Amino acid sequence: MFLPHVPSPPEAGSRPTLVSRRRVLGGAAAVCATALLPWRGARAQPLAAGPVTVGRIKVTPLFDGFYPLPLDVVPDAVSPAGTALLEKAGIPPAGPIPTPVNAFAIERDGRFALIDAGTGPAGGAALGKVSGALAAAGLDPARVEVLILTHLHVDHASGAIGADGKALFPNAELILQHSEIEFWLDDAIRARAPQGMDGFFAAARAVLAAYPRRVRAIEGEQALWPGLSALPLPGHTPGHSGVMIADGGDALLMWADTMHVGALQFPHPDWTVLFDVNRIQAADTRARLLDRLAVDGTVVMGSHLADRGRIVREGAGYAMMPV
Ligand SMILES: [Zn+2]
Repeated sequence: MFLPHVPSPPEAGSRPTLVSRRRVLGGAAAVCATALLPWRGARAQPLAAGPVTVGRIKVTPLFDGFYPLPLDVVPDAVSPAGTALLEKAGIPPAGPIPTPVNAFAIERDGRFALIDAGTGPAGGAALGKVSGALAAAGLDPARVEVLILTHLHVDHASGAIGADGKALFPNAELILQHSEIEFWLDDAIRARAPQGMDGFFAAARAVLAAYPRRVRAIEGEQALWPGLSALPLPGHTPGHSGVMIADGGDALLMWADTMHVGALQFPHPDWTVLFDVNRIQAADTRARLLDRLAVDGTVVMGSHLADRGRIVREGAGYAMMPV
């Protein structure tokens, strides 16, 4: 199985600058606030692709809902180039950008794993549909053996717990990068974060607390479960990680939040979002991964992509050809 070369996670103790963290945290707070507003139109599609098999592994997308991403969360998109790309995609140039949220169920030989859990009750009525999607797929949460969290942002992790704060997956082991746990449990970072960001720390900690003695912290590229391995993609958060799904010579990469807005970031991979904890590292990770995927042809799917496909070069940037 070929794993694309990507940068290693940041050294222990290395931290994004306070400036970048402030920008990030402010942006994330904006997303959190707007996610609670009623959805206001704009063309939007959930993940168009249904279940797919990778060797003996069945991958089922679980659509959690949309959140309306304010345009200024992608600062470079507040520009003539951004306006043109948004119009081309049928998105109002002033935003917000309808952003799908996906989790993924994995089945192999009658066993089940989950990659991310969606927003849960934390995101308001427009989100939190993963538990319904699981039921629709006939998957009993008690049969989920491992819940792999790509990172601890609300739209990926908070669906692991119910409104009462209790674990929704009673037998699942929670797997995530050690650097991700370390970041969100760091009281000093939390204390320096803007007030509006505090809820994100609280949400991340609530998820971890609901799975006592059931958290498996991993380091770097590591086997997670039969056919699944971690692919660190740092920058969006320190422990942000993709999941490579591989079996029988077939492979599919779930790249999580490597990209938030395909219409903007495929043509401009250097355009970052305010809630990347380290925007420079996030852009670098994205550029390296896109470069390798355009060569090796691995099919990719994402937390915020409306489809899955292969990456190709297009002009000075990239495009995704749905498969
Ligand atoms: Zn996300």
